[in-house]
Amino acid sequence: MRLDTLGIDRSVSVLFPPAVLLERLEELPIETVLIDGDSESASDSTERCDGVVTFEYRPSLLNASWVHSVQAGVDRFPLERFREANVRLTNSTGLHGDAIGETVVGYMLAFARRLHTHVANQRERRWSRPEWDEPWTIAGERACVVGLGSLGRGVVDRATGLGLDVDGVRRTPIPEPGVDQIYTPDALETAVSDARFVVLAVPLTAETEEMIDADVFAAMREDAYLINVARGSVVDQRALVRALEDGGIAGAALDVFETEPLPESSPLWEMDQVIVTPHAGSATRQYGDHVASIVAESVRRLRAGEEPVNHVC
Ligand code: NDP
Repeated sequence: MRLDTLGIDRSVSVLFPPAVLLERLEELPIETVLIDGDSESASDSTERCDGVVTFEYRPSLLNASWVHSVQAGVDRFPLERFREANVRLTNSTGLHGDAIGETVVGYMLAFARRLHTHVANQRERRWSRPEWDEPWTIAGERACVVGLGSLGRGVVDRATGLGLDVDGVRRTPIPEPGVDQIYTPDALETAVSDARFVVLAVPLTAETEEMIDADVFAAMREDAYLINVARGSVVDQRALVRALEDGGIAGAALDVFETEPLPESSPLWEMDQVIVTPHAGSATRQYGDHVASIVAESVRRLRAGEEPVNHVC
């Protein structure tokens, strides 16, 4: 594949400054240029690039031969159009295990140690000790991790390190280190039924869309917490709100939502038993450096006629 010019789309600035990539990729034997989807000359500037690194999808990207998504999830990219246009798409899976793993055990510890309640009380200058039976410890509790890829692995390593027992769900029914039992998606309700934490770490696909529905909430323990670091639409949002309002589950930590930013009118903002984070579970100051290493390796491989890293389609 011809790869002489690589465009860094300004949309990557949602996650890190584009200058980080331009600087880290300076050493490559190709020209790297900043392109801007919002400017009038966007399609021109995109057209002169053989490859583009981007956060957003827009149709003019299909003029390139290769597009790299700075996110792991490519649910916003029309894969069929990429195939039709013969444009290779790669993603950034593999980068997020540490950050997401730490975020997820952060949520677990916040719920168990009631840290979210203490922070809310502090804002009100309220000295309020929890009831004697409110705080608990996560050691010895069970987590069910749905999706055991790079995110799921990051969660399993940390959860087991903190003394949790872990089950997992994925389509491939082979054993996974640190995971007691692997369930396939058809046994999801059984898999979640014994868990204090149900952690979602699957890609959003036709199969996973709303996989956490009213039946799954009904199968969960009433003292269980849902943790969603995958995509909002993996959960039926109405069923979630109902489960939280009716006490079907104890609470939820949500990094991702059907509509982002989460609309001001959402009841989730007001719920004491809900932690809302703004799709920031994988944010880290090293993000741009990590993307740069994937992109640099793919550039090397593509110029050598090899497969790029994390080829999606
Ligand atoms: P990976 O591709 O590494 O892992 C995906 C895992 O999900 C695999 O274990 C896969 O196993 C499993 N899986 C796929 N389909 C199903 C299904 N139908 N039922 C059950 N399990 C399934 O992806 P990552 O771990 O890197 O990322 C996962 C998703 O998390 C991303 O697609 C993205 O949407 C989201 N994400 C969110 C972030 C955030 O900031 N909150 C950051 C990074 C990612 P198998 O194939 O055996 O089923």
